[in-house]
Amino acid sequence: MSFQDVRSCKAFERAKAVIPGGVNSPVRAFRSVGRDPVFIERGEGSHLWDIDGNSYIDYVGSWGPLILGHAHPEVVEAIKRTAERGTSYGAPTELETELAVEVLRAYPSMNQVRMVNSGTEATMSALRLVRGVTGRNKIVKFEGCYHGHADSLLIKAGSGALTFGVPNSPGIPAATAGTTVVARYNDLEGLREIFRQDGEEIAGVIIEPVAGNMGVVIPERSFLEGVRELTRQYGALLIFDEVMTGFRVSYGGVQERFGIDPDITCLGKIIGGGLPVGAYGGKTEYMSQIAPSGPIYQAGTLSGNPLAMAAGLTTLRLLQKPGVYSELERKTNYLAEGLRKIAEEQGLPIWINSVGAMFSAFFTDQPVKDFASACTSDVERFAAYFKGMLERGVYLAPSQYEAVFLSLAHTDEDLNYTLEQVRAVLKSL
Ligand code: PMP
Repeated sequence: MSFQDVRSCKAFERAKAVIPGGVNSPVRAFRSVGRDPVFIERGEGSHLWDIDGNSYIDYVGSWGPLILGHAHPEVVEAIKRTAERGTSYGAPTELETELAVEVLRAYPSMNQVRMVNSGTEATMSALRLVRGVTGRNKIVKFEGCYHGHADSLLIKAGSGALTFGVPNSPGIPAATAGTTVVARYNDLEGLREIFRQDGEEIAGVIIEPVAGNMGVVIPERSFLEGVRELTRQYGALLIFDEVMTGFRVSYGGVQERFGIDPDITCLGKIIGGGLPVGAYGGKTEYMSQIAPSGPIYQAGTLSGNPLAMAAGLTTLRLLQKPGVYSELERKTNYLAEGLRKIAEEQGLPIWINSVGAMFSAFFTDQPVKDFASACTSDVERFAAYFKGMLERGVYLAPSQYEAVFLSLAHTDEDLNYTLEQVRAVLKSL
């Protein structure tokens, strides 16, 4: 059946009348690739179906959480079983402790963890924590890193903010923006200079320890080690935002893969198994300062929601099976390398950054190691590539500055089909 989008177009018109831009999160509107979005009806395994009946191999996976694929039977069963006993109590459950135990086991840098409802809440709460603990105000973030949409962090941010060229959203008080210092990714000397100038005022440094929101950008080991050393030296806390990378670049995240010990870690996405979740945690000396054990306030009506805890717990337990991460990485490398070869055969410049179960292919002839080099990509070529792939049944993130996410549900057949479409689409560009 050939590609159709009559129903999706109608659905988008209806949505736009009642929802800003027709979507509940900006990137979903496909603006940067110059077409309207398709509306999804269902997902199963590696596939999505839209309301016009088109099917897609999905490499977005709800932007990362679905590392087991859509509607994994055991995750669905856990959610059903839990929902039958009620969907929320606003009171403690043993499920929350069980998920906390699993998370702490995987991330030894943390002794305690607090569940919240999104990645944004996790990073926002982590900022309050590091400011509360140190009594300092300034935060350092890196250009092109996205940490959700809290005021202090929506500054030179990646992902949707980057795609839309709104690095500083209206509505953020200048006084708040003034507490955020922006550094360059993979530039230790630049960070050192910032600490020389502002070191006594810096509460913390927040980083995507492998960046995924300017496309995938991998840190040099010496850079990450240097960030750790500098923060220690100046008494600032180091926050690893592993909302995207946690349980994806390896079970224990970037911190396990690179052997770095952050003070605070933010998680989200995979730990909720596809339901709304976030988490932040760290050493007891910091986490004990959070209410009610300490004075730093943070709360949530639906935090630790039983459905999210059950979905997350089931997901983590399935990820503990031997060989899962080598299999994910094998698939990722196969697809990334296949793409590279096809582009090279066709004489198209391409740069690929790949780690664990995520990668990005940038249409550029330059190495991509920070925001500026990511921006050398040919975004018009990407848009044409995206549209071609979509119409041939491959659902990619609708922006050059996002990652491709692999899941255990992707089969070799899916990957080979995808590469065939890559060949056809790149040829037509
Ligand atoms: N941090 C990172 C690294 C992210 O990738 C994201 C979302 N993509 C967030 C924070 C914000 O998470 P959420 O969208 O759940 O608020």
